[in-house]
Amino acid sequence: MPDIWEYEESDMSKRDDSISAMCTPAIGEAGKTGDWRSSRPVIDHSKCIPSLKKKPACFLCWLYCPEGVVRANIPVEIDMDYCKGCGVCAEECPSKAITMVREGATDE
Ligand code: SF4
Ligand code: SF4
Repeated sequence: MPDIWEYEESDMSKRDDSISAMCTPAIGEAGKTGDWRSSRPVIDHSKCIPSLKKKPACFLCWLYCPEGVVRANIPVEIDMDYCKGCGVCAEECPSKAITMVREGATDE
């Protein structure tokens, strides 16, 4: 029977540091997937931590977005061409700066 610790050690030696969970939005066969959205995230920058502190901070929306469509800029930006409206960013935002708004509704 193989030694599990030996296996894990050899497996780690094959680790490729260039592999990460991050993906980059791009036009694929499905086109601009933001077209599928039924609601969209709206950021209140007066509550958003990087905008308030005027320095890179938080960016949990960028970290958790499963589509990789949040740009960790000041102010934070979302690529609406590819945002699917899942609402994960709004759930994870610690300052409740993101509100999900039904498509077709006004932001206010
Ligand atoms: S709604 Fe979903 S896909 Fe759109 S920015 Fe937020 S986490 Fe990303
Ligand atoms: S998670 Fe909320 S507070 Fe943090 S950067 Fe994103 S919008 Fe701003």
